Amino acid sequence: MSKINDPELALTGKQKIEWVKDFMPALTKIGQELKEKRTFAGRKIGMSIHMEAKTAYLALILKEAGARVYATGCNPLSTQDDVAAGLASLGVQVYAAHGVSENLYRQHLRKVLQNQPDLIIDDGGDLLETYCKLPEDAKWTVIGGCEETTTGIIRLKKRERAKTLPFPMMDINDACCKHYYDNRFGTGQSTWTAIMDTTNVLVAGKTVVVAGYGYCGKGIAMRARGMGADVIVTEVDPVKAIEANLNGFRVMTMDEAAPLGDFFITATGCKDVITARHFMVMKDNAFLANSGHFDVEINLDDLASLAYSSSERRENITGYVLEGGRTLNVLAEGRLVNLAAGKGHPAEIMDMSFSLQALGLECLIKHCGELENKVYVLPDYLDQKVADIKLDAMGIRIDHLTQDQADYLNI
Ligand code: NAD
Ligand code: SAH
Repeated sequence: MSKINDPELALTGKQKIEWVKDFMPALTKIGQELKEKRTFAGRKIGMSIHMEAKTAYLALILKEAGARVYATGCNPLSTQDDVAAGLASLGVQVYAAHGVSENLYRQHLRKVLQNQPDLIIDDGGDLLETYCKLPEDAKWTVIGGCEETTTGIIRLKKRERAKTLPFPMMDINDACCKHYYDNRFGTGQSTWTAIMDTTNVLVAGKTVVVAGYGYCGKGIAMRARGMGADVIVTEVDPVKAIEANLNGFRVMTMDEAAPLGDFFITATGCKDVITARHFMVMKDNAFLANSGHFDVEINLDDLASLAYSSSERRENITGYVLEGGRTLNVLAEGRLVNLAAGKGHPAEIMDMSFSLQALGLECLIKHCGELENKVYVLPDYLDQKVADIKLDAMGIRIDHLTQDQADYLNI
């Protein structure tokens, strides 16, 4: 039995799922291939990934290819109740509800695992960590899984080093068709869509401080500049700092940037990027948002202890009033703003990320029994396959090497 908030929302949810299908041609094509091959016949797949329309389409593709699918979200705030209801009405077991407590969120992860999936899809590593915490006699053999995001991969590699990874995991994030587009262009667009919808204030002419100039940070900084903001980047990696500077951004420490920013956006995957000493010097009505994993980049405990009062000023905006009457506005409780206060990346972007997910699962089945309990990067030819299908769907043709050229390049 699915565990969702309101089954009556199914119709709207199904409309949202129908809508994204039109913009996910690569996943549709790969889905047709998987369906013809019945790749997942008899397999159970457990997923913990944002319960959103594009995810729902991925779940349906896997189901059509023969799998029984059990799905939950990977963040209590990103679940869309109508999508959860729509997906449940289409034959996927869904355990997800918007805004659930930490406790219920964890219960939903355990519910997925109670079905003893053969394969998992994880976004951030919470499903795998839940499996690891099960008593030994409650565990079963999992063929393997696919991990979607940067921080999830960091958690997996920690386990790999400690030799405690329980089964093979495919690193989807490091495929080019994932992080080049999803982390950069997806996060670049969806972070700003969410911030602008939530705040309804002007970006042009404002000072935007972006913490972290990795793939996500690059996208956020690039789009901020495109809208006419003055962009400052903070970094801990000297190489990335030079790159940001040569791309025309001001680079400085967070201590220097704190009194200057109108918007602060963290995308580091690190903790305590913005803390008490920064809040103390920020401008009145500065906005704080996070687009990285978890809710630890902006230290909200520090902010709460500095504040005289806090209140919800608008949906998804908490205002903290500090000494002297300054207010700092925190978006989406410091959770990743593009999903907690928005709809996440556009469908065309998730088309590539989720095509890689589907191919990653197929790859695990093909190599079942041959793989060690390690983190594997998705083979290059699958990355190329997604790029080829996507380019074709975009109606773009490119040149191809002649044999003579290939020999010259030693390919
Ligand atoms: P990345 O490794 O490419 O970039 C992170 C950058 O942050 C690095 O350049 C690093 O040097 C820098 N950094 C680390 N600690 C810092 C600190 N204290 N101050 C300033 N800079 C610091 O990673 P990425 O792919 O850009 O992902 C960043 C985070 O966003 C991860 O947690 C990832 O899981 C998450 N993510 C979110 C979305 C989304 O939809 N919001 C999409 C993809 C990834
Ligand atoms: N559990 C973590 C998840 C990190 S989210 C947390 O809540 O903090 C980062 C991932 O979300 C990205 O790698 C991206 O691929 C994925 N994502 C972004 N937009 C999405 C969407 N519309 N639907 C599903 N997943 C999405």
